[in-house]
Amino acid sequence: MNNRELIEKLKNERVLSKTEFTQLIGTYTKKDREFTAKLARGEADRVFGKKIFVRGLIEFSSYCKNDCYYCGLRRSNRNAERYRLSKEDILRCADEGYELGFRTFVLQSGEDGFYTDEILCDIVKSIKNAHSDCAITLSLGERSEESYKRLFDAGADRYLLRHETANTEHYSKLHPDSLKAENRQECLRTLKRIGYQTGCGFMVGSPFQTAENLAEDLLFIKRLAPEMVGIGPFIPQHDTPFRDKQKGGLEDTLFMLSLIRLMKPNVLLPATTALGTISPLGREQGILAGANVVMPNLSPTEVRQKYLLYDNKICTGDESAQCKECLNNRMKSIGYEIVTDRGDYRN
Ligand code: SAH
Ligand code: SF4
Repeated sequence: MNNRELIEKLKNERVLSKTEFTQLIGTYTKKDREFTAKLARGEADRVFGKKIFVRGLIEFSSYCKNDCYYCGLRRSNRNAERYRLSKEDILRCADEGYELGFRTFVLQSGEDGFYTDEILCDIVKSIKNAHSDCAITLSLGERSEESYKRLFDAGADRYLLRHETANTEHYSKLHPDSLKAENRQECLRTLKRIGYQTGCGFMVGSPFQTAENLAEDLLFIKRLAPEMVGIGPFIPQHDTPFRDKQKGGLEDTLFMLSLIRLMKPNVLLPATTALGTISPLGREQGILAGANVVMPNLSPTEVRQKYLLYDNKICTGDESAQCKECLNNRMKSIGYEIVTDRGDYRN
Protein backbone atom coordinates (compact mmCIF):
# COMPACT_ATOMS: atom_id res chain seq x y z
CA MET A 1 0.00 0.00 0.00
CA ASN A 2 1.23 3.53 -0.57
CA ASN A 3 1.54 5.97 2.33
CA ARG A 4 -1.72 7.77 1.55
CA GLU A 5 -3.59 4.46 1.70
CA LEU A 6 -1.87 3.55 4.96
CA ILE A 7 -2.90 6.84 6.55
CA GLU A 8 -6.52 6.28 5.52
CA LYS A 9 -6.36 2.73 6.77
CA LEU A 10 -5.06 3.99 10.13
CA LYS A 11 -7.98 6.41 10.42
CA ASN A 12 -10.52 3.68 9.62
CA GLU A 13 -9.04 0.77 11.53
CA ARG A 14 -7.19 2.68 14.30
CA VAL A 15 -4.11 0.50 13.92
CA LEU A 16 -1.53 -0.67 11.38
CA SER A 17 0.92 -3.54 11.45
CA LYS A 18 4.49 -2.97 12.56
CA THR A 19 5.69 -3.24 8.95
CA GLU A 20 3.11 -0.69 7.81
CA PHE A 21 3.90 1.78 10.61
CA THR A 22 7.63 1.39 9.92
CA GLN A 23 7.14 2.11 6.21
CA LEU A 24 5.02 5.17 6.96
CA ILE A 25 7.39 6.61 9.57
CA GLY A 26 10.47 5.81 7.51
CA THR A 27 9.26 7.28 4.20
CA TYR A 28 6.58 9.93 4.84
CA THR A 29 6.70 13.11 2.76
CA LYS A 30 5.65 16.66 3.63
CA LYS A 31 2.35 16.01 1.81
CA ASP A 32 1.79 12.80 3.81
CA ARG A 33 2.45 14.68 7.02
CA GLU A 34 0.07 17.52 6.16
CA PHE A 35 -2.63 15.07 5.11
CA THR A 36 -2.22 13.12 8.36
CA ALA A 37 -2.32 16.32 10.44
CA LYS A 38 -5.56 17.38 8.78
CA LEU A 39 -7.25 14.06 9.52
CA ALA A 40 -5.84 14.03 13.08
CA ARG A 41 -7.01 17.58 13.80
CA GLY A 42 -10.42 16.60 12.41
CA GLU A 43 -10.62 13.77 14.93
CA ALA A 44 -9.53 16.03 17.80
CA ASP A 45 -12.07 18.68 16.78
CA ARG A 46 -14.79 16.03 16.68
CA VAL A 47 -13.96 14.85 20.22
CA PHE A 48 -12.85 18.09 21.95
CA GLY A 49 -14.16 20.87 19.72
CA LYS A 50 -12.07 24.02 19.84
CA LYS A 51 -11.28 23.50 23.51
CA ILE A 52 -7.75 22.99 24.76
CA PHE A 53 -7.19 21.54 28.24
CA VAL A 54 -4.58 23.13 30.42
CA ARG A 55 -2.45 21.55 33.16
CA GLY A 56 -0.40 23.51 35.67
CA LEU A 57 3.04 21.95 36.01
CA ILE A 58 4.72 22.13 39.41
CA GLU A 59 8.32 20.88 39.25
CA PHE A 60 8.86 20.35 42.94
CA SER A 61 12.28 18.66 43.17
CA SER A 62 15.33 18.53 40.93
CA TYR A 63 17.04 15.76 42.89
CA CYS A 64 17.17 12.41 41.14
CA LYS A 65 18.70 9.08 42.09
CA ASN A 66 18.67 7.84 38.50
CA ASP A 67 21.21 8.39 35.78
CA CYS A 68 19.30 8.42 32.49
CA TYR A 69 21.87 9.34 29.82
CA TYR A 70 19.68 12.01 28.22
CA CYS A 71 18.51 14.00 31.24
CA GLY A 72 20.02 17.07 32.87
CA LEU A 73 18.72 16.03 36.29
CA ARG A 74 20.68 12.73 36.27
CA ARG A 75 22.53 12.15 39.51
CA SER A 76 26.00 12.23 37.88
CA ASN A 77 25.42 15.80 36.73
CA ARG A 78 27.46 17.70 39.30
CA ASN A 79 26.61 21.01 37.65
CA ALA A 80 22.87 20.67 38.17
CA GLU A 81 21.53 22.94 40.89
CA ARG A 82 19.27 20.98 43.18
CA TYR A 83 16.22 22.24 45.05
CA ARG A 84 13.22 20.89 46.88
CA LEU A 85 9.91 22.69 47.38
CA SER A 86 8.18 22.40 50.74
CA LYS A 87 4.55 21.43 51.12
CA GLU A 88 3.77 25.12 51.72
CA ASP A 89 5.60 26.15 48.52
CA ILE A 90 3.65 23.56 46.53
CA LEU A 91 0.33 24.61 48.04
CA ARG A 92 1.09 28.22 47.19
CA CYS A 93 1.71 27.24 43.55
CA ALA A 94 -1.59 25.35 43.49
CA ASP A 95 -3.48 28.30 45.04
CA GLU A 96 -2.02 30.66 42.48
CA GLY A 97 -2.85 28.20 39.71
CA TYR A 98 -6.41 27.85 40.94
CA GLU A 99 -6.90 31.60 40.76
CA LEU A 100 -5.64 31.52 37.19
CA GLY A 101 -8.22 28.88 36.22
CA PHE A 102 -6.18 25.69 36.41
CA ARG A 103 -8.17 22.62 37.47
CA THR A 104 -5.37 20.09 37.04
CA PHE A 105 -2.01 20.20 38.78
CA VAL A 106 0.86 18.05 37.63
CA LEU A 107 3.39 17.36 40.36
CA GLN A 108 6.65 16.36 38.71
CA SER A 109 10.14 15.66 40.07
CA GLY A 110 13.24 13.57 39.72
CA GLU A 111 13.20 10.31 41.66
CA ASP A 112 13.86 11.88 45.02
CA GLY A 113 13.78 9.62 48.07
CA PHE A 114 13.27 12.62 50.33
CA TYR A 115 9.59 12.60 49.41
CA THR A 116 8.30 9.50 51.19
CA ASP A 117 4.80 8.17 50.63
CA GLU A 118 3.78 9.86 53.84
CA ILE A 119 5.01 13.29 52.75
CA LEU A 120 3.54 12.94 49.25
CA CYS A 121 0.17 11.67 50.49
CA ASP A 122 -0.03 14.64 52.83
CA ILE A 123 0.71 17.03 49.94
CA VAL A 124 -1.88 15.36 47.69
CA LYS A 125 -4.53 15.44 50.43
CA SER A 126 -3.82 19.06 51.25
CA ILE A 127 -4.21 20.18 47.63
CA LYS A 128 -7.43 18.18 47.35
CA ASN A 129 -8.73 19.68 50.59
CA ALA A 130 -8.06 23.18 49.37
CA HIS A 131 -9.36 22.56 45.83
CA SER A 132 -11.74 19.62 45.75
CA ASP A 133 -12.75 20.30 42.14
CA CYS A 134 -9.19 19.82 40.85
CA ALA A 135 -7.43 16.76 39.47
CA ILE A 136 -3.94 15.83 40.56
CA THR A 137 -1.49 14.21 38.18
CA LEU A 138 1.72 12.72 39.52
CA SER A 139 4.93 12.27 37.53
CA LEU A 140 7.46 10.91 39.99
CA GLY A 141 8.96 8.01 38.10
CA GLU A 142 9.04 4.36 39.13
CA ARG A 143 7.70 3.46 42.57
CA SER A 144 6.32 0.32 44.22
CA GLU A 145 2.77 -0.87 43.70
CA GLU A 146 2.08 -0.12 47.35
CA SER A 147 3.29 3.44 46.95
CA TYR A 148 1.19 4.02 43.82
CA LYS A 149 -1.78 2.59 45.70
CA ARG A 150 -1.30 4.84 48.72
CA LEU A 151 -1.00 7.94 46.55
CA PHE A 152 -4.13 6.97 44.64
CA ASP A 153 -6.02 6.45 47.89
CA ALA A 154 -4.80 9.87 49.04
CA GLY A 155 -6.55 11.40 46.04
CA ALA A 156 -4.17 11.40 43.07
CA ASP A 157 -6.15 10.97 39.85
CA ARG A 158 -3.58 10.52 37.11
CA TYR A 159 0.02 9.40 36.63
CA LEU A 160 2.46 10.21 33.84
CA LEU A 161 5.28 7.77 33.28
CA ARG A 162 6.73 7.82 29.80
CA HIS A 163 7.82 4.35 28.71
CA GLU A 164 10.66 6.22 26.83
CA THR A 165 11.03 3.45 24.22
CA ALA A 166 9.18 0.16 23.91
CA ASN A 167 12.24 -1.61 22.51
CA THR A 168 14.27 -3.24 25.28
CA GLU A 169 17.62 -2.96 23.47
CA HIS A 170 17.01 0.67 22.61
CA TYR A 171 16.01 1.31 26.23
CA SER A 172 19.36 -0.08 27.39
CA LYS A 173 21.19 2.40 25.15
CA LEU A 174 19.43 5.31 26.87
CA HIS A 175 19.76 4.10 30.47
CA PRO A 176 22.28 2.44 32.78
CA ASP A 177 21.79 -1.25 33.64
CA SER A 178 19.95 -0.42 36.85
CA LEU A 179 16.96 0.78 34.82
CA LYS A 180 14.98 -1.77 32.84
CA ALA A 181 12.32 -1.33 30.17
CA GLU A 182 10.35 -4.24 31.68
CA ASN A 183 10.13 -2.57 35.09
CA ARG A 184 8.89 0.66 33.61
CA GLN A 185 6.28 -1.12 31.52
CA GLU A 186 5.20 -3.14 34.54
CA CYS A 187 4.76 0.11 36.50
CA LEU A 188 2.46 1.38 33.76
CA ARG A 189 0.31 -1.74 33.89
CA THR A 190 0.17 -1.45 37.69
CA LEU A 191 -0.92 2.19 37.50
CA LYS A 192 -3.72 1.28 35.12
CA ARG A 193 -4.84 -1.60 37.30
CA ILE A 194 -5.00 0.65 40.38
CA GLY A 195 -7.30 2.97 38.50
CA TYR A 196 -5.15 5.96 37.58
CA GLN A 197 -5.74 7.75 34.31
CA THR A 198 -2.34 6.71 33.01
CA GLY A 199 0.02 8.34 30.56
CA CYS A 200 2.95 6.75 28.74
CA GLY A 201 5.09 8.30 26.02
CA PHE A 202 8.50 8.71 24.49
CA MET A 203 11.02 11.14 23.07
CA VAL A 204 11.06 11.56 19.30
CA GLY A 205 14.56 11.41 17.81
CA SER A 206 16.27 10.05 20.91
CA PRO A 207 19.76 8.71 20.15
CA PHE A 208 19.83 5.37 18.26
CA GLN A 209 16.07 5.47 17.61
CA THR A 210 14.90 3.89 14.33
CA ALA A 211 11.62 4.11 12.41
CA GLU A 212 10.97 0.55 13.56
CA ASN A 213 11.41 1.61 17.22
CA LEU A 214 8.79 4.31 16.73
CA ALA A 215 6.46 1.74 15.16
CA GLU A 216 6.99 -0.38 18.29
CA ASP A 217 6.17 2.63 20.47
CA LEU A 218 2.87 3.11 18.65
CA LEU A 219 1.97 -0.54 19.03
CA PHE A 220 2.93 -0.42 22.71
CA ILE A 221 0.50 2.49 23.13
CA LYS A 222 -2.18 0.51 21.31
CA ARG A 223 -1.71 -2.46 23.66
CA LEU A 224 -1.50 -0.46 26.91
CA ALA A 225 -4.46 1.75 25.97
CA PRO A 226 -3.40 4.72 28.14
CA GLU A 227 -5.65 7.72 28.77
CA MET A 228 -2.77 10.14 28.07
CA VAL A 229 0.31 10.12 25.86
CA GLY A 230 3.22 12.52 26.33
CA ILE A 231 5.71 12.90 23.51
CA GLY A 232 8.25 15.55 22.63
CA PRO A 233 11.52 15.85 20.77
CA PHE A 234 14.74 14.72 22.41
CA ILE A 235 16.86 17.81 23.12
CA PRO A 236 20.51 17.42 24.16
CA GLN A 237 21.58 18.76 27.54
CA HIS A 238 25.15 20.02 27.73
CA ASP A 239 26.09 18.20 30.96
CA THR A 240 24.96 14.71 29.89
CA PRO A 241 26.62 11.89 27.91
CA PHE A 242 24.29 12.76 25.01
CA ARG A 243 25.46 16.38 24.82
CA ASP A 244 26.67 15.95 21.20
CA LYS A 245 23.71 13.94 19.91
CA GLN A 246 21.29 15.42 17.41
CA LYS A 247 18.00 16.81 18.63
CA GLY A 248 14.70 15.28 17.53
CA GLY A 249 12.94 16.82 14.55
CA LEU A 250 9.92 19.13 14.55
CA GLU A 251 8.27 17.39 11.59
CA ASP A 252 8.86 13.94 13.03
CA THR A 253 7.30 14.98 16.34
CA LEU A 254 4.28 16.53 14.61
CA PHE A 255 3.84 13.42 12.48
CA MET A 256 3.98 11.13 15.53
CA LEU A 257 1.38 13.33 17.31
CA SER A 258 -0.95 12.91 14.34
CA LEU A 259 -0.46 9.15 14.15
CA ILE A 260 -1.24 8.84 17.87
CA ARG A 261 -4.40 10.93 17.49
CA LEU A 262 -5.60 8.79 14.57
CA MET A 263 -4.92 5.65 16.57
CA LYS A 264 -6.61 6.95 19.76
CA PRO A 265 -9.13 9.73 19.00
CA ASN A 266 -10.01 10.35 22.68
CA VAL A 267 -6.52 10.32 24.14
CA LEU A 268 -5.28 13.34 26.12
CA LEU A 269 -2.27 14.49 24.12
CA PRO A 270 -0.17 17.53 25.08
CA ALA A 271 1.77 19.84 22.80
CA THR A 272 4.81 19.84 25.09
CA THR A 273 7.25 22.48 26.24
CA ALA A 274 10.02 20.55 24.46
CA LEU A 275 8.11 21.00 21.19
CA GLY A 276 7.88 24.74 21.90
CA THR A 277 11.60 24.76 22.67
CA ILE A 278 12.80 23.39 19.32
CA SER A 279 10.55 25.73 17.33
CA PRO A 280 8.91 29.06 18.23
CA LEU A 281 5.48 27.93 17.00
CA GLY A 282 5.99 24.27 17.89
CA ARG A 283 3.10 24.06 20.34
CA GLU A 284 0.65 25.74 17.96
CA GLN A 285 1.71 23.32 15.25
CA GLY A 286 1.34 20.47 17.73
CA ILE A 287 -2.28 21.44 18.36
CA LEU A 288 -2.92 21.69 14.64
CA ALA A 289 -1.41 18.21 14.24
CA GLY A 290 -3.89 16.74 16.74
CA ALA A 291 -2.74 17.57 20.29
CA ASN A 292 -5.38 18.89 22.74
CA VAL A 293 -3.51 19.79 25.93
CA VAL A 294 -0.93 22.40 26.99
CA MET A 295 1.04 22.40 30.22
CA PRO A 296 2.29 25.80 31.31
CA ASN A 297 4.72 26.02 34.18
CA LEU A 298 3.47 26.95 37.67
CA SER A 299 6.78 26.43 39.48
CA PRO A 300 8.10 29.42 41.45
CA THR A 301 10.24 31.59 39.17
CA GLU A 302 13.26 31.23 41.50
CA VAL A 303 13.59 27.50 40.80
CA ARG A 304 12.65 27.34 37.14
CA GLN A 305 16.20 27.66 35.86
CA LYS A 306 17.15 24.67 38.01
CA TYR A 307 14.79 22.14 36.48
CA LEU A 308 16.64 21.71 33.24
CA LEU A 309 16.02 18.33 31.66
CA TYR A 310 17.36 19.73 28.38
CA ASP A 311 19.01 22.89 27.03
CA ASN A 312 17.28 26.17 26.09
CA LYS A 313 14.03 25.30 27.83
CA ILE A 314 11.47 28.07 27.24
CA CYS A 315 9.43 30.00 29.83
CA THR A 316 12.02 29.68 32.61
CA GLY A 317 11.86 33.40 33.36
CA ASP A 318 8.14 34.00 33.33
CA GLU A 319 5.60 34.29 36.11
CA SER A 320 2.83 31.70 36.10
CA ALA A 321 0.26 34.29 35.05
CA GLN A 322 2.44 35.29 32.10
CA CYS A 323 2.78 31.65 31.01
CA LYS A 324 -0.97 31.12 31.11
CA GLU A 325 -1.67 34.37 29.27
CA CYS A 326 0.96 33.63 26.65
CA LEU A 327 -0.50 30.20 25.91
CA ASN A 328 -4.00 31.64 25.90
CA ASN A 329 -2.96 34.04 23.18
CA ARG A 330 -1.11 31.37 21.26
CA MET A 331 -4.17 29.12 21.23
CA LYS A 332 -6.46 32.00 20.22
CA SER A 333 -4.12 32.82 17.33
CA ILE A 334 -4.96 29.44 15.77
CA GLY A 335 -8.68 29.51 16.60
CA TYR A 336 -8.61 27.51 19.85
CA GLU A 337 -9.41 28.36 23.44
CA ILE A 338 -8.02 27.26 26.80
CA VAL A 339 -10.80 26.11 29.14
CA THR A 340 -11.18 25.98 32.92
CA ASP A 341 -11.94 22.29 33.29
CA ARG A 342 -10.39 19.21 34.91
CA GLY A 343 -10.18 17.75 31.43
CA ASP A 344 -10.68 14.11 32.36
CA TYR A 345 -10.46 11.27 29.90
CA ARG A 346 -13.81 10.29 28.41
CA ASN A 347 -14.56 7.20 26.48
N1 SAH B 1 11.65 11.64 36.86
C1 SAH B 1 10.37 11.45 36.24
C2 SAH B 1 9.74 12.74 35.74
C3 SAH B 1 10.66 13.79 35.23
S1 SAH B 1 11.44 13.49 33.68
C4 SAH B 1 10.48 10.45 35.11
O1 SAH B 1 11.58 10.21 34.63
O2 SAH B 1 9.46 9.92 34.73
C5 SAH B 1 10.07 13.65 32.58
C6 SAH B 1 10.37 13.30 31.13
O3 SAH B 1 11.27 14.25 30.56
C7 SAH B 1 11.05 11.97 30.88
O4 SAH B 1 10.12 10.93 30.88
C8 SAH B 1 11.72 12.18 29.52
O5 SAH B 1 10.96 11.61 28.47
C9 SAH B 1 11.78 13.71 29.37
N2 SAH B 1 13.16 14.16 29.16
C10 SAH B 1 14.22 13.98 29.96
N3 SAH B 1 15.35 14.46 29.39
C11 SAH B 1 14.99 14.95 28.17
C12 SAH B 1 15.70 15.54 27.09
N4 SAH B 1 17.01 15.72 27.14
N5 SAH B 1 15.01 15.93 26.01
C13 SAH B 1 13.66 15.76 25.96
N6 SAH B 1 12.95 15.18 26.92
C14 SAH B 1 13.60 14.78 28.03
FE1 SF4 C 1 15.67 11.28 36.79
FE2 SF4 C 1 13.44 11.35 35.26
FE3 SF4 C 1 15.69 12.62 34.50
FE4 SF4 C 1 15.67 9.95 34.49
S1 SF4 C 1 14.38 11.33 33.21
S2 SF4 C 1 17.31 11.25 35.30
S3 SF4 C 1 14.37 9.53 36.23
S4 SF4 C 1 14.43 13.10 36.25
